[in-house]
Amino acid sequence: MAAERLQFHEMGLDDRLLKAVADLGWSQPTLIQEKAIPLALEGKDLLARARTGSGKTAAYAVPVIQRILTSKQSVREQDVRALILVPTKELGQQVQAMIRQLTAFCSRDVRVADISGKADLSAQRPILMEKPDVIVGTPSRVLAHLNAQNLLLHSSLEMLVVDEADLLFSFGFEADLKNLLCHLPKIYQSFLMSATLTEDVQALKELLLHNPVILKLQGSQLPDSNQLQQYSIKCEEEDKFLLIYTLLRLQLVQGKTLVFVGAVERSYRLKLFLEQFGIPACVLNSELPVHSRCHIITQFNQGFYDYIIATDEQSLANPTAAPQAAAGKGKKKKNSERGGKNKDKEFGVSRGVDFQNVSNVVNFDFPVTVESYIHRVGRTARADNLGTALSFIAHTELGLLSEVEEALTGENSESVLKPYEFKMEEIEGFRYRCRDAMRSVTKQAVREARLKEIKQELLNSEKLKTYFDDNPRDLQLLRHDKDLHPAVVKPHLKNVPEYLVPETLRGTVNPLSGRRKRKKMDKPQPEGVMKSSFKKNIRGRNPLRSFRYSGGRSGNRRGKTGKS
Ligand code: AMP
Repeated sequence: MAAERLQFHEMGLDDRLLKAVADLGWSQPTLIQEKAIPLALEGKDLLARARTGSGKTAAYAVPVIQRILTSKQSVREQDVRALILVPTKELGQQVQAMIRQLTAFCSRDVRVADISGKADLSAQRPILMEKPDVIVGTPSRVLAHLNAQNLLLHSSLEMLVVDEADLLFSFGFEADLKNLLCHLPKIYQSFLMSATLTEDVQALKELLLHNPVILKLQGSQLPDSNQLQQYSIKCEEEDKFLLIYTLLRLQLVQGKTLVFVGAVERSYRLKLFLEQFGIPACVLNSELPVHSRCHIITQFNQGFYDYIIATDEQSLANPTAAPQAAAGKGKKKKNSERGGKNKDKEFGVSRGVDFQNVSNVVNFDFPVTVESYIHRVGRTARADNLGTALSFIAHTELGLLSEVEEALTGENSESVLKPYEFKMEEIEGFRYRCRDAMRSVTKQAVREARLKEIKQELLNSEKLKTYFDDNPRDLQLLRHDKDLHPAVVKPHLKNVPEYLVPETLRGTVNPLSGRRKRKKMDKPQPEGVMKSSFKKNIRGRNPLRSFRYSGGRSGNRRGKTGKS
């Protein structure tokens, strides 16, 4: 099958583009690329539904770049030829990065500017005056520039891409998008990329696309169980903390892990809790300055951190959504906490962002919609890599679990989320420590941590930005997973005495090895070193795979750490 796949060099692409693709280590196009690139090069409008992580950015970026290179052979005049609309700043940055990689050998001919991230319109004006060939931005930002006449598109635009179209709606960009269309010329080629084909996307299709080719490549929105293992485990609030502590401390979850929580306050609570045990983790949420957020993702992708605790922005997109069950009490408060005014509407962690080589996604709090589940879990098992998703389910979250089950199971009778048959009673010995740690993480401590981190990150983000522009190597040394320490840390909690380790796991896990490794890793390591240490872990016995679950194929086969 793979041998029959149309290859990049058979698509009539410019040599410079082919060289960049080869440099990225892409031996062949992904399915969406194989189908979309030739059609796009023929000039067709496209509506593509492809699951997240399927290589859809390059599926539109390659034809966009090719078309610009071709136009430039006849028309020398510099103008904006392509506009790529994205729902979040993080995605904007990633799309720009991907285009930069693909134009590595023709960067003079194809210039790209991402205008989604910076706050100040006037600061971006000079960039737009240079008329970059490709502009990436959120609809609101692009519209603001069009209204300010910093940007004119009505005569020059040849291509429009709407990426993650379904999310543009859930982030409330509908009106901006419609207003923006009035500034575009009558004829241009359009690509609409979307993980789901919602009614909104269908409506947008009518508005934007002319006689489009519709590509629905994947029946399922997530990879199948050969690539992605999905588990759930029932546990209430305290047990969630107990379980995450044990899984991470005993390294039952191995490799890079994204832990999703439902509110910013909970992310700091969890970070401070793990801090008590000497487990470092970064927090990623909409309150942090965009520069810090992007830096955290970049460093995570480079292998600096093992754990990110991310607050799902679903609640921002839909502030009226049912509160996370795990939060239990104080529903009203939770809701306002989620939709708070400090939140950045264009923050997107579970959506579209390319976290690379993520082995596991843990839903500490279960997502409130099926869509959100798909987007979160889609952060692992990307491209050809393997991954595991583990969801903690409190009794109040059971309804949400059934909805996800129903949506994912489809016509199959077998449930997609297998029970993670972990014997909680075997880790009872850890409960005392867990309670001890939870007691130290008071409301006051969480509040202080939150403030401290924002102050710290603002400083990193703004004041040091110019310095880091000149000294990029120093930026590498800046870590985001340092202890925040507003809670009293009891040093003894960092150690795990052998007698507490469940008998079945003695000899399999070494609770102290993580600490030694972490010390070494405090200095950023070259990627190769990180990869080989992962491989060592992964190739060895993997408890998430072998521990307790006896229902057939299971586990956390980790993907190739090759570029994804
Ligand atoms: P995307 O769906 O665009 O977010 O891409 C997901 C990941 O797949 C990114 O890390 C890309 O670098 C990677 N990728 C894209 N195209 C290919 C390809 N043809 N071969 C291998 N990896 C790819």
